[in-house]
Amino acid sequence: TSLGSKAAMRQLEGELSQRIKEARQRLIGLIAHIEASVDFPEYDVEEITGGMAVEEIDSVMDMLERALKGFERGRVIREGLTAAIVGRPNVGKSSLLNRMAGKNRAIVTDIPGTTRDVIDEYVNVNGVAVRLLDTAGIRDTYDLVEKIGVEKTIEEIEKADLVIMVIDTWEGLLNEDREIIRQLEGKKAVYVLNKIDISQEERVSAIERELKGKYTIRASMKEDIGIEELEKAIWELFLKGEVDADSEFLVTNIRHKVLIEKALESLQESKKSFEMGMPIDCMVIDIRGAAESLGQITGESVSEDVINEIFSRFCLGK
Ligand code: GDP
Repeated sequence: TSLGSKAAMRQLEGELSQRIKEARQRLIGLIAHIEASVDFPEYDVEEITGGMAVEEIDSVMDMLERALKGFERGRVIREGLTAAIVGRPNVGKSSLLNRMAGKNRAIVTDIPGTTRDVIDEYVNVNGVAVRLLDTAGIRDTYDLVEKIGVEKTIEEIEKADLVIMVIDTWEGLLNEDREIIRQLEGKKAVYVLNKIDISQEERVSAIERELKGKYTIRASMKEDIGIEELEKAIWELFLKGEVDADSEFLVTNIRHKVLIEKALESLQESKKSFEMGMPIDCMVIDIRGAAESLGQITGESVSEDVINEIFSRFCLGK
């Protein structure tokens, strides 16, 4: 898709490394300042207080937290977003998949439970690849083939970034539907109220009342109603507002993500030692830890950089 192009990705990675370098450099500056004022009191180094250090740490943490938010988005742009389509048999999941994909990929049948394998299809939503997984409905069953499908559904729900649950408004909400809704607790989910072409208004609004507070969309796969709204919902639930567009820089590598998280933990620790009233040089241990984690992303080592910084910034005699 347009957003997923390799060139764009390379540019984003370059941007990330630049920003991480910047964050790390600020930590190095902070360490150097603290060490210089502690180790060379005889020189005229401007004194730094714990409060000043905490302020700088907060600002760096802010940067790193934004980077982490960018990670999710980076992954989505690179790999696409995974959306699982779930629901009881025969509610219209395959029809929805076909509508979104614009071709007859899944086999639509009148026999409940015929979509036994998880099949998937990519669609393009505002330039982002969305991988749709069509799963067999969740329900109690003794049928072995069907059961494999059911287990897979639960697995797919776990794996998916977003779940599209299809509900048959003609039949109304059944306990099997409620079971699926329960499984979706805490997931990003859109509820497609399908078959409004044949169901009564009262039925549809009763379902809406029961799903109050959730993202519901009235739809008919038969009459092609609701698809655009569904695409908008996917965009809004997942992609809009996650990162602010100007300042985003994207973390695309899981190793980088872990290192940034580690750096954030270290910085949290250093703030803790300040809050506990420990001397300012105790904060340095954790700030250094954070700079080291970031250095593993940019490929730089801390000790040498701190020494260089102390001598270049504070004009200490050699
Ligand atoms: P699945 O088992 O959930 O994948 O359901 P399918 O997509 O195979 O659809 C089951 C049946 O419902 C098929 O006969 C579809 O033609 C029909 N169907 C799906 N969506 C609609 C709809 O919006 N309105 C009506 N009237 N029938 C629909």
